[in-house]
Amino acid sequence: MSQRVHIAVLPGDGIGPEVVQSALRVMRVVGDRDGFEVETGEHAFGGAAIDLTGEPFPASTKEACLNADAILLGAIGGPKWDGLDASRRPETGLLALRKALGAFANLRPVTVPDALAHLSVLPPDWVAGTDLLVVRELTGGIYFGEPRELGADEAFDTMRYSRLEIERIARVAFEQARQRSRRVTSVDKANVLASSKLWRSTVTKLHRSEYSDIALDHLYVDNAAMQIVRDPQAFDVILTANLFGDILSDLASTLAGSLGVLPSSSLGGATPLFEPVHGSAPDIAGRDEANPVAAILSAAMLLEELGFGSSAQSMRRAVDHVLAAGSLTRDLAPHGVSTSTFTDAVCTALEEASASSTLS
Ligand code: NAD
Repeated sequence: MSQRVHIAVLPGDGIGPEVVQSALRVMRVVGDRDGFEVETGEHAFGGAAIDLTGEPFPASTKEACLNADAILLGAIGGPKWDGLDASRRPETGLLALRKALGAFANLRPVTVPDALAHLSVLPPDWVAGTDLLVVRELTGGIYFGEPRELGADEAFDTMRYSRLEIERIARVAFEQARQRSRRVTSVDKANVLASSKLWRSTVTKLHRSEYSDIALDHLYVDNAAMQIVRDPQAFDVILTANLFGDILSDLASTLAGSLGVLPSSSLGGATPLFEPVHGSAPDIAGRDEANPVAAILSAAMLLEELGFGSSAQSMRRAVDHVLAAGSLTRDLAPHGVSTSTFTDAVCTALEEASASSTLS
């Protein structure tokens, strides 16, 4: 083994540990084949960390994350911790992790493999071939803006963006578009919100000065929600703020038939972070039922980011191969296969693909 990747693994809660385990198994198979070693350290995070240490993001976990090549996170949260006050909830740990890393760019690719098009809530020919990327600003906007206050009869939050925050996330979207179909749709609410007016003028200016090779258009967020459902294939890169991106990426996730197949990365900070879009799914936790595709594809994004592009591509091909062969977990098929059976099939597909390329 000539190379080694060091991953801080945060399994979290509910189905988090199950899907992370699947992703690591697949990554190790591809690592053995392609000559790199996957070295992992597991760290408490979310509800599991609250049980262990009293807080969702312990200092030791933070230190491990800052010292790793990348972070693979499962999911956090669950009813057990819902009654805690806001400062000690698992979700607070997630916001603190993102802030500690400074990971300001959240990338959420939404693709609909042919094998899943018939499972979408929309007609198959509307969604087949969908391949869009939501680039969401992650460390600013209304989720972090001050002042904020919760009073007995009145409450408020602040949606605040600086020109520099908008420029750096727009740059990520334009750079991603250069590797894809060279189209960016910037989503805002510039007809109403001051922060959106600055968003639109900043994106337009940056486009003119540095990215005129990319086709740019702008949509108001309400119209964007409608267009994503009406014509998902029309989109390439969707660039948007924290709040709008949170909502639009969940909306876009319905195109693929299940939350269980959508990966994400959070970039731009001290260490890149990779995690499925879905939550901890307490309703199916511990039953070997979870769909591990989102976690496996998150691990593929991780390898791509660390420079193992062809290994990442092999992982994606193996997942597509298994889905196309009709092996679907129970979120996608009533009598579907278990998490471990699906993972076995992906590992086998990888091994068979490498055996056949050795023979040829
Ligand atoms: P969820 O994503 O956990 O589950 C929504 C529905 O999708 C459930 O029916 C679940 O069974 C199903 N589902 C999700 N992932 C699946 C998978 N991989 N395979 C099969 N089915 C899957 O969202 P929720 O129910 O709103 O939240 C549950 C908990 O997760 C809450 O505590 C919430 O705060 C937390 N949460 C965490 C994250 C995160 O860790 N990033 C994100 C969203 C929600």
